[in-house]
Amino acid sequence: MTVRVRFAPSPTGIPHIGNSRTALFNWLFAKHHQGKFIVRIEDTDRKRLVPGSQEKIMEILDVLGLKEDESYRHGGPYGPYIQSQRLHLYQKYAHQLVEEGKAYYCFCSPERLAKIRKEQQKKGLIPKYDRHCLHLSKDEVEEKLKGGQKYVIRLKVPDDKDISWNDLIQGKITINTANIDDQILLKSDGYPTYHLAVVIDDHLMKINYVLRGSEWISSTPKHLLLYQAFGWQPPKFGHFPLILGPDKSKLSKRHGAKSVLDYVDEGYLPEALVNFMAFLGWNYEDNSAILTLEELVKLFDLDRIGKSNPIFDRQKLDYFNREHIRRLPLTELAKRLGKYLPADYPLKGDKFNRLVELCQPRMTNLKDFLSLTEFVYPQKTAESKDLAKYLKTTEVREVVKNIRQKLTQIKEWKVSSIKEVIEEEVERSSLSRGKVFMALRIAVLIRPVTPPLFESIALLGKELTLRRLDIALNWN
Ligand code: GLU
Repeated sequence: MTVRVRFAPSPTGIPHIGNSRTALFNWLFAKHHQGKFIVRIEDTDRKRLVPGSQEKIMEILDVLGLKEDESYRHGGPYGPYIQSQRLHLYQKYAHQLVEEGKAYYCFCSPERLAKIRKEQQKKGLIPKYDRHCLHLSKDEVEEKLKGGQKYVIRLKVPDDKDISWNDLIQGKITINTANIDDQILLKSDGYPTYHLAVVIDDHLMKINYVLRGSEWISSTPKHLLLYQAFGWQPPKFGHFPLILGPDKSKLSKRHGAKSVLDYVDEGYLPEALVNFMAFLGWNYEDNSAILTLEELVKLFDLDRIGKSNPIFDRQKLDYFNREHIRRLPLTELAKRLGKYLPADYPLKGDKFNRLVELCQPRMTNLKDFLSLTEFVYPQKTAESKDLAKYLKTTEVREVVKNIRQKLTQIKEWKVSSIKEVIEEEVERSSLSRGKVFMALRIAVLIRPVTPPLFESIALLGKELTLRRLDIALNWN
């Protein structure tokens, strides 16, 4: 049997990275088992829709490389893949349950519902619908319908029944129906609730594994009751452990968790994001292996997903990013940097490529390249505070002056001759190598953190190097 899983986002905003993990795990599971990954848009909660978020959710999948096999934009045999285009199905099935006596019309007004909720709360009870409309006679129902009264359709939930399933990740779970309300299946606006739509669609789209976050565990008994009511075979369920923030509460944007798209804008590689997200719940070796999407497909399975809650650790994301940057072929790295550089970036061609090579081991994210190489902008100068700190003493200035003098005499401006001049002068002086190098770094490369000194000076060229040295020496 072909594995068929779905990612079923609600376009109610742009999900943060933790939420995109659900897509990644489903995709990896599908691909590991040569199955199908289906994307279904769950847009039935009309009040919470955020325009544009559906497109962003799809863009996240594209960025991460999680190609879907079926979706609204890809097509497929079980469409439409957007719930708001499937309303007729939900209505048909909801009414079918009413006819079979498994669900019922409820005409209660929001005011009445609020009132009974208040009364129950006063008595310390868990608020629950009091089944007022379950007891209406057939004629009463007919009459209200004829009179055009607004209604919802509710599921008859058994009173005290244990619902169990073998969760693929959490093990056996049993939840009693005592505290489960008679669920609304169809709302008065004709839209289904999440519970009805998800069950009908998972069934009609032949989904055989429902893999989602643990926050949905409490919904699963409701879904199982619906499968029973319809007489359908339920899929297997697996619930991923909740991702926690560093303070051990549920990960949210409050913890600085941003969307995949934000991280990409900040200079994170999709490869690193995938690698990082994989270890938010899935385990392999010491959970720091550098793995590509292809390698993850081979290794991924549900038995390596534990029950314990992974903690979102930004430093780990930085680690994966550094490592993936180091592993990129230079030409690829140069290409990817393009997006983060202004159009007037002064270096091009071979010089640019050489600079990329020098910076590759020094970058945590792609944006670092620009700050590491600010010195290539001819008009930029060092900050006064750095000049004051590193070029203050006359001894230092003396050595820098001598170096400047000797550099003017270099005929072929290349790394070895620059190195020779500088090392010779350091040798002749009584100053440490570190002191002189730092002074030169600030004077010529204008920042305390740069790619290697000699190579950078060689790339910068003689003219600009001498000009910067003059500025630094005349500064006071
Ligand atoms: N639409 C739900 C969401 O927003 C899907 C939950 C599920 O996977 O069943 O995450």
